[in-house]
Amino acid sequence: MFGKGGDHWLMCGFDRHHWRLPGHKPTGREPVAGGFTLIELLVVITIIGILASMLLPSLSRAKEKARTATCINNLHQMSVALKLYVDDHDDKLPSIRAREPGAGTVKLTRMTLGGFDPLPALLEHFPSARARPLYRYLPPSEVFKCPADKGQRTLPCPLPSLKPSNFETIGCSYQYNAGGLTTLAGGGFRHTPEDTAEGIAEKAESWAPNPVRYILMHEPPARLYGCTTSPPQWYQWHYVQGSSDISDPVTARQEFVSPILFVDGHVAIHDFSKALSIDPYYPYEATREWIWYKPLDSQALDP
Ligand SMILES: [Zn+2]
Repeated sequence: MFGKGGDHWLMCGFDRHHWRLPGHKPTGREPVAGGFTLIELLVVITIIGILASMLLPSLSRAKEKARTATCINNLHQMSVALKLYVDDHDDKLPSIRAREPGAGTVKLTRMTLGGFDPLPALLEHFPSARARPLYRYLPPSEVFKCPADKGQRTLPCPLPSLKPSNFETIGCSYQYNAGGLTTLAGGGFRHTPEDTAEGIAEKAESWAPNPVRYILMHEPPARLYGCTTSPPQWYQWHYVQGSSDISDPVTARQEFVSPILFVDGHVAIHDFSKALSIDPYYPYEATREWIWYKPLDSQALDP
């Protein structure tokens, strides 16, 4: 196919056989078989490569957007279940303690307001599905699964690692913002005396100083995890490829994104990267978008 039509058309970079002008009469010197020159193929392959490289990131971004949309929907359903729970419990939100049916054992539910049974080895630390506060209102289902859930390697002592995902190990991806930060490097929430280590747990929705900004449920990338005897860890789930376990959030790729359910029932995606870069050990100061606890200083609530 190369050179059969003579050097003069090869130098133009394309084959006249495919680019014949209207009214052109065959001279008998065109290539016998149709086809592309090597240069044409290389040009086409290069263009396809460039287009693909431009398209792939936006495709994966679109895929991630669909995943966060799933979480928004999931948290909306949890919001409805929590409203039903509150109606049945004297207008109070769930406790962080749940009693196993029959056995009477009490377990913490901060990471498991609802969802499936934990793995048998984790039953010592996490309640069974039936003992969880939302069990009657929102039965175990995929609603408790974040599609970007990458698990957590280090948790407050003495809890074990949750890999490959929180959902696969403890049956729930989403967490209840009910305090629990008193043993971390930051020293715990700087809260009012009435806001105990359990935060909004067992309190009326009206207790929240600003229900539009008060975080009710979240995913692990919103905050740090650790205890006094292990180094803290941060996690990235949505919009992240590769490692999701971070030991230094300042130098890590900053994608600490978490869908958030607020006390007033609305759900929004928030990026906690900036809060973590200002003070990774205490990313809990009030912002225009969110508050984690009832602040000591009521001025912190001003936008
Ligand atoms: Zn999610």
